[in-house]
Amino acid sequence: MSIQEIRLFGDPVLTTPASPVTTFDKELRNLVKDLTETMLDAPGAGLAAPQIGVSLQVFVWNIEESDGHLINPTLDLSADLQDGEEGCLSFPGLTYETPRAFRAVAKGFNMHGEPVTIEGTELLARVLQHETDHLNGIVFIDRLLLEERKLAMADIRNSDWFGERTPEQVAPIFKLSPHPTNGRAL
Ligand code: ZN
Repeated sequence: MSIQEIRLFGDPVLTTPASPVTTFDKELRNLVKDLTETMLDAPGAGLAAPQIGVSLQVFVWNIEESDGHLINPTLDLSADLQDGEEGCLSFPGLTYETPRAFRAVAKGFNMHGEPVTIEGTELLARVLQHETDHLNGIVFIDRLLLEERKLAMADIRNSDWFGERTPEQVAPIFKLSPHPTNGRAL
């Protein structure tokens, strides 16, 4: 068990679709542990394996009403949408109004290879969508409306972490925000 370095936007692993898990072994259980520890340490509300440089379809989450992990997920989304601010541990300090489906049903597997279904609305639905996107090489700024996305790209270019990371900066400081994730990014 160990806390891993969180990869920041600009790292190609974040825009590469992750591979499905095929072997449900001790290595996978260790990955779930590392993800959970790294998320809690950040602290974050969710974390996907590509964010620690592992291109496998695994994510973890931890919000007030629910926590857990999910492997090889597929999503079923409601047509109705929700508003809300969203952030990401791979974009330190940045949050944007991000449209998402109001309700999500995620089907996948637990670390023992048993099928599981996670259903959620509002924040849990948002987390399931954000993390499943990570596994498909999609980051949350890809979900922004055009004007908001332009703003985000400018903010990213102006951020002190973008393209400037050195090995010492493994734990970037980022401001907490009073948003629906209770100030914790995904
Ligand atoms: Zn994220």
